[in-house]
Order: sequence, then C-alpha cells, then structure tokens
Amino acid sequence: MIENKEVVVIGAGIAGLTSAAILSKLGLSVTLIESHKQSGGCAGTFKRKGYIFDVGATQVAGLESGGIHSRIFKFLQIEKPMASLLDPSCIVDLNDGSSPIQIWYEPSKWISERERQFPGSEKFWKLCNLIHLSNWEFANNDPVIPIRNFWDLSQFINALKPQNLLTGLLLKSTIFDLLKICGSDQDKRLIKFLNLQLKLYSQENVYKTAALYGCTVLQMSQRPHGLWHLKNSMQSLSSALEKSLKQTNAEILFNQKVNSLEYDSAKNLWKIETSKGNKVKEYHAQDVIYSPPPQGLLKLLKDKKDYYLKYHERLKKLPEPSGALVFYAALKKEKMININSNHYQFVNKELGSLFISLSDEGDGRAPMGEITLIASIFTKTQEWFDLSKDQYILKKDQHLDKISKAIEEKFYISRDDWLHRELSTPRAFERWTNRPRGIVGGIGQNPEVFGLFGLSSRTPFKGLWLCGDSIYPGEGTAGVSQSALIVSRQIIASKGMQNFNL
Ligand SMILES: Cc1cc2nc3c(=O)[nH]c(=O)nc-3n(C[C@H](O)[C@H](O)[C@H](O)COP(=O)(O)OP(=O)(O)OC[C@H]3O[C@@H](n4cnc5c(N)ncnc54)[C@H](O)[C@@H]3O)c2cc1C
Repeated sequence: MIENKEVVVIGAGIAGLTSAAILSKLGLSVTLIESHKQSGGCAGTFKRKGYIFDVGATQVAGLESGGIHSRIFKFLQIEKPMASLLDPSCIVDLNDGSSPIQIWYEPSKWISERERQFPGSEKFWKLCNLIHLSNWEFANNDPVIPIRNFWDLSQFINALKPQNLLTGLLLKSTIFDLLKICGSDQDKRLIKFLNLQLKLYSQENVYKTAALYGCTVLQMSQRPHGLWHLKNSMQSLSSALEKSLKQTNAEILFNQKVNSLEYDSAKNLWKIETSKGNKVKEYHAQDVIYSPPPQGLLKLLKDKKDYYLKYHERLKKLPEPSGALVFYAALKKEKMININSNHYQFVNKELGSLFISLSDEGDGRAPMGEITLIASIFTKTQEWFDLSKDQYILKKDQHLDKISKAIEEKFYISRDDWLHRELSTPRAFERWTNRPRGIVGGIGQNPEVFGLFGLSSRTPFKGLWLCGDSIYPGEGTAGVSQSALIVSRQIIASKGMQNFNL
C-alpha cells in the first residue's frame, strides 16, 4: 500500500520531532518515520534494572522564557517539560591541585569566580560577552544560514543588526584569536578550561573553535539563558513534542527504517521505501526532511545522477565527527560525595576529559536513596569498528574498567558501591540511533564549516531537506530545534504559504 503525504520526516530525534510538530501545527499532513522503537535519538533514554538512563544529552539549553525550546512549545501550545535550573551548571576540575571552577548562573557570581580563577582574563570575557550579545539578537531574529537562494538571503538580511556587521569581521577568527587580542593567549590554565568546555559544545578546542560560535556557547550557563535538568528524564522533551504531533493528527511510525529515497520527476514527488521486519512499505511525499547525520543520506538515494556526485564530494569534505563512550551507572546516594551541581567535568591523565551527569534523588531516574551517574568521554569512532567480537568485548571491558576506576578515585567510591555499571561505544550508538559509525554531536564548529560556510538545510535535490546537529547552528537539543525551525520556514515559503515567526 502506498500513502501520500505532504511531508515525510525521517528520524524522531529532537530535530525530526520539532520540524514535524511545527509543520503539522501549520496544517500540513506529516508522517514521521523512526527506525527505533521510541523517539528521542541521542536525547532519548533507556531503562535498565529499575533505572532510567539518559542515552546522550543530559542537560538542556533554551528552556528559559524566550529560549528556542520555550518559543517552540509556546507556538505548539503545549506545556514545557518540568525542569530545574542548573546553578552552578557545571564544576570543572582541572586536576592541577587548584580549586575547581564553578560555572554560576548569576553573572556577578560568575564574574567573581573567573576573576579569582583566571586573573587578568576579564578583557577576554568582556569581548566574548559583547560578541555573544550581538550573535544572540541576530539568532533570535531567526536568520536562515547558510544562504542558498533569494528567500534565504532576505531572511538573513531581516535578521541583521548594525552590530552584526562588526562581529562579521570575526567570521574566520577562532577563540584563540580573541585570547590573543586580549593578551590572554599565554594563560595555560584558562586555555585548559576553555578547551574542556568548548570540546563539549563545539567538538573543537580554542585553536579551532569559531570565535562567533564559541563566544555564545561560553555564555549559555548564565542569566538570561541557563542550562536545565529535566525532571523524570530527557525523554520528557520528546514526549512533549509527541503530544503536539498527536494533537495535530500527525502520524508517527516507530520501528520503521527508511531504506531508500527516489525522486519521481514526472509526478514531482519522493518515493520513500521503509521496512519493518520483513514488511516493506512505500510513502509518497512532496517534501522529505532527513534529520539523521547527512553522512548517511547518500546511500539511501537511488538516483546517482545529476547532483549526486557533487554533493557526495561536499559531504566527504566534512570534518570527521567524534564518537562517545558513555558509562551508565547507579549507586546509593550516600556513597557519592556531596557535589553542588548535577555536572562535574574533570581531567584524567589517560582518558582526557570526563563529563559526569548526576541525577537528583527522587527525580524519577532511580529509586529513592539512589542516584544514576553517567560519564561520557570522546573517542575516535574507527577504533571501535573492524574488530573481531572477542577484540571488541575485551576493549570494551578494559574501557569500562578504566572509566570506572577514574570515577572511583575522583569521588572516593569503592568498586563494590556500584549497583549498576555498563558502557556504550560508537557501535551501540550506531545501533541505537542509526548514526553512521556512531558519530555524535554534529560537525566540529571551526571557521571553515561554521555558520555561513556550513552545510545547508537545502540540498541540491528538489524537495529534500536536512535538519539536525550537522546543520546550522549545530549540536544540542537547542541547536537542532533551531535547525528544525529554519527548515520548517523554508518549506512553508517553498509552498507559497504565509511566512511565520515564533
Ligand atoms: C554522549 C552525548 C552527550 C550529549 N550531551 C548533550 C547535552 O547534555 N545537551 C544537549 O543539548 N545535547 C547533548 N548532546 C547532543 C544532542 O544529544 C544531539 O545533538 C541531539 O540530540 C541530536 O538530535 P538530532 O535529532 O539531530 O539527531 P538524533 O538524536 O541522532 O536523531 C536522529 C533520529 O533518526 C533516526 N534514524 C536514523 N536513520 C533512520 C532511518 N534510516 N530511518 C528512520 N529513522 C532513522 C534515529 O533512530 C534517531 O532517532 C549529547 C550527545 C551525546 C552523544
């Protein structure tokens, strides 16, 4: 049986859910197709032995009033998930014998902290703040980036403010360039701190992170923004979006994998072939949004002519994204030392940066008296493939032990205190999210591929669109929601419908 739709969205991660919800709210007939049994993708959850673990994302930006998630929830007329503000959003322990850095929500507290931690660096932070304020006003005007046609250009120009022309001069600069301008380029401790934080959000260090991107991610913890810890689990974000889809009668199909896409130029529509077990089904749609990483798109396209080769070359040139090793564990609350934040980042000589996320007692992730502890580190994806089964199991066990030991030493936990421990590798991410080779977090935000120079949500293939963490403005649930908004506006404009703003 063939079903005809106006829009088919592939992937029910936050990007796919958000674009499907917006378009369905605007009255288009939308089908959302997800290969996994549930929504959420990298921001989903899984259950194990009575615990609920957040698969990847553990903190949310953009939930404050005026933030991207809030704007979208308001537009969809659904309740925001319950969340508590993270203050401090994270404690960063450089493991250099000095006191850890607490990233406070109140700007005045954060200024005192950084003056104490990084004396002489205030010029750099002030410059970051100025650039961020200019970026933020621009981003809130919903620009369309990268620009591919007249409509995109008109949206870009509408969003521009005079100060953006000045910050535009920094398009090709890095955070290190700003450090140099401000005389902080020799401050090794500051650079170590920035490297740890930037890697989490931009996949790059100070030498490579685009200045315009880095300045904004370094200000996300402070008022008027803030980072949030969701009550119950990260799944509540996806569940809220699913609720909106149900209210607007959009169709969500789980356990259905899209296997091929073919454009029928005579009928001006896409044929989308999916499978669920042995059952093959075909959908027809005028527009298709592909939300998983674009590196997996081309193998789905049946037609290898025309733009295919050129686009193939473009995708091949994208920087190789990272993979992640994620340690999921649980323990009695009393076994964990008291930390005044849900997030703790520390450096381990062998493993590099470990980013720890702790649940709150009674927040729905673990039974009363217990908490979950999730630790993530970056890894090169290729290290985890091309191994025999035995080699893979051995490597995985070794890493589980190393990560476990690093955490035990840091927080004085004994091996017997763990009530649960397991590790996921890029292979598990590939299985869970169907992301090629388990790559996570989108494209490194260096000046070569950031913003105007990035991959566009418009593809060269008519009616085939992209959104998600490889598209402007980048990774994170807030970033992919922005990309979902951009693609929704582009599709609405392409159909000659009235432009909308949130
Ligand atoms: C370890 C880790 C920690 C992170 N921490 C944070 C954090 O604290 N805060 C934050 O904001 N972000 C964080 N992120 C990043 C964030 O999770 C992602 O950037 C974001 O969730 C990506 O959403 P997406 O919709 O673009 O992609 P995905 O979440 O990958 O969703 C894509 C969906 O498409 C489906 N799919 C793929 N192929 C097919 C197909 N052929 N047919 C049908 N369906 C398909 C997948 O199953 C998946 O559900 C983290 C990521 C990781 C891995």
